[in-house]
Amino acid sequence: MIESCAHTSIRKSTDDELINRTNKIISEERQITAELLLYLREIERRMLYAKMGYPSIYELLTKHFNYSGGAAYRRISAMRLIQDVPEVEEKVKSGALSLTTAAKMQTFFREMKFEKKLEMKNSEKKKFIEQVENLSTQDVDKLLRQIAPDLISKDRVRTLSESHVEIKFIANVELKNKLEYLKNLLSNKMPVAGYKEIIDEASDIAIEKLDPLLRQKLRRANPLTDSQCVTSKINMLEGFKKQIEEVEGAARQRVVISADLKRKVWARDGGVCSFRRDSDEKICGSRYQLEFDHIVPIARGGSTSIENLRLLCKAHNIFEAKRIFGEKHIAQFVKKLE
Ligand SMILES: [Zn+2]
Repeated sequence: MIESCAHTSIRKSTDDELINRTNKIISEERQITAELLLYLREIERRMLYAKMGYPSIYELLTKHFNYSGGAAYRRISAMRLIQDVPEVEEKVKSGALSLTTAAKMQTFFREMKFEKKLEMKNSEKKKFIEQVENLSTQDVDKLLRQIAPDLISKDRVRTLSESHVEIKFIANVELKNKLEYLKNLLSNKMPVAGYKEIIDEASDIAIEKLDPLLRQKLRRANPLTDSQCVTSKINMLEGFKKQIEEVEGAARQRVVISADLKRKVWARDGGVCSFRRDSDEKICGSRYQLEFDHIVPIARGGSTSIENLRLLCKAHNIFEAKRIFGEKHIAQFVKKLE
């Protein structure tokens, strides 16, 4: 077998040369990583992922560029951190801040904002980041746990086999109590249910409630009991209520679309985002944050009819609005997405 030139020169180098060269490559790698983050930022600003048929930049990185979920997540988080704290770019370049730590800090700031309703100023974030420079991942974890022991960290999903995944998340006591409450409510039907079974059952109830087609089937099958049953169960699930309102609220938008029309659009589009990218007409197919979109906007004389309605994921709804109404109008919506 013929070895490549590079391979041969590596084999022949002295120990010192090997270490020095490795040092140089790592430094170049960091430069390139920092540069990559700037490119991702611009891709996100232009919503190029949407143009290419993906519902998010995460999907673009994992499906188009073949990054693993974790690698994509770290890069996106670091990219967003640079938006708030531009100094992070230099820290990534110098190696003072690893992508992992940058992602941890971004997640931490987000969770402080959404879970603790505590939004830090960018100057405060900058000071915070200075404290974790050059720390090991474990030390960063330790520090963050000391500051906010109950902060919920990002769900972790690990593929175990074709048919099974492991899902890990940290729940607050409220959620645990809700699950326990549900366990009791379901104890006649499912006497030995664990959390997995309870979440499975709750998901079925939520899907029945949120999927217009299934809901129609249920009403037909059993007009009174099913809807009553679903309603009363939902009333007990305070946690799900908010989500339901969010999803239905998004679909309601400004114009009232009748439930019947929604079902027809949903059925025609197969309950997925119908956005087609220009290059090969592939559809997005996302089921995440679906909204009913007027193809020709009401403001431009479009009607609320099946021909003029379609299902779009939130990212593609915004992308299309951007295409029709222009950049400036949309910047505020994009911010909401982040
Ligand atoms: Zn989409």
